[in-house]
Amino acid sequence: MSYEKRADYSVALLFPPALEDWIPADHPARFIREFVDSLDLEELGFHKREAEEGRPNYAADLMVKVWLYGYFSETRSVRKLERGCRDSVALIWLAGMHEPDHNTLWRFWRDNKKAIRKLFVQAVRVAAKANIVGALLQALDGTKIQARASRRTGVEKAELERLLDKIEKSFEQAGESESEEGYRLPEELTDREELRERIKQALTEMEEIDRERLHPGETDARMMKCGRGLEYGYNAQAVIDEASGLIVAADVVNEESDNDQLVPMIEQAKENVGRAANQTVADGGYTSGEGLDGAEKLGHQVLVNLGPQHVGNENEYHASRFSHDAPRDCWVCPLGKELKFEREKRNRRKRYAVRVYRCKSFKECPVRWECSKDLRGRTIEITPYDGAFRRQREKQAQAHNQALLKKRMVIAEPVFGQIKHCFGFRRWTVGGLEGVKTQWALVATAFNLRKLHRHWIAGRFSFDTG
Ligand code: SF4
Repeated sequence: MSYEKRADYSVALLFPPALEDWIPADHPARFIREFVDSLDLEELGFHKREAEEGRPNYAADLMVKVWLYGYFSETRSVRKLERGCRDSVALIWLAGMHEPDHNTLWRFWRDNKKAIRKLFVQAVRVAAKANIVGALLQALDGTKIQARASRRTGVEKAELERLLDKIEKSFEQAGESESEEGYRLPEELTDREELRERIKQALTEMEEIDRERLHPGETDARMMKCGRGLEYGYNAQAVIDEASGLIVAADVVNEESDNDQLVPMIEQAKENVGRAANQTVADGGYTSGEGLDGAEKLGHQVLVNLGPQHVGNENEYHASRFSHDAPRDCWVCPLGKELKFEREKRNRRKRYAVRVYRCKSFKECPVRWECSKDLRGRTIEITPYDGAFRRQREKQAQAHNQALLKKRMVIAEPVFGQIKHCFGFRRWTVGGLEGVKTQWALVATAFNLRKLHRHWIAGRFSFDTG
């Protein structure tokens, strides 16, 4: 006989009478509770607010659990978290049946950004202590994420200058009329006076940070290619451990280029895990002489996918085919001709001097035009980091290093894919560089906790909540 399942509203008990029994032993909420209870939140810098009068404050551990579970379960808005503390069994359980409202949740975020960022480091240390982090091979990568500010509401320097010019002219005209007829400045021009000051202030800011575009409400954000096109955004960085798939270093910068992030990110990964990786691989965006040289000096093994401009590939006369004659301070081309030192040059963008060597035998050279189109003869420019580039090229010529470089994509890109497409995190919901750094740390913590949860269920480690 078939029957239908129907809601029985006469059931006396909805949940077990003890709160502790509401959540099964392997539930992520229980895992997050144990993780948070194992931390010394005061030492991490969470503010303990003592209410002198009125209602008592929510304890820091309660708020951290709610925030972490929210990010773990893709609930990142404070209003949804507030609703969750009323409707979601896991959040009701984690919050001990307390119901912090969205303002309280937001104030906690605002007052504890630095401490929230430290949760990420704690999660990495738990994994390292449990020997889950391999630290043999790590991959560094970055992704641009759109700021909450829209491109439509941003301002361009040229547009502001035009507007300022127009306002100045309207003031001049009003000034002439005033002197002729003796009447006061029209009311709309007094509003314009305020606008003129705001424009001047925005132009000064743009001048200071050397930018052509700025968003008045999100001055830290920069125009960068974020998925669909140029938008105001931030550049999120992550180092991912191959063995565990965990993010072991996370940061956000407001530079469009990844160029300067190689050393700081590897150093951060080393500090978080407690030891340096045997090898770190990165894509061509991290190619920089300073980065390669800095990593070498600190003893880090790195493989950065050098682009064709640094490797030369098929080009027989690429600078990498020239050899240095140090005692004579000259370079020798593939035909055995010398390029002598000519001059040192500096430009505004480079922070170091470049030594220029020029070929004087080009007029008689049979391959002159294959070598260079310069009418004054072939030159090569040597930076102080040329040695680091040469050593990097030599490393990359080895087959096992080429195999490691190929792994970069399969280590790093799935992580960003999961964060953006599975977690749905495609746009910052907070503003300012400090805000997005905190949000990225929380996203990375939630990502790691999801992976660690599986290890915890399998009994590979437990928290020391003693
Ligand atoms: S142009 Fe000068 S540097 Fe180039 S191959 Fe000929 S001799 Fe050598």
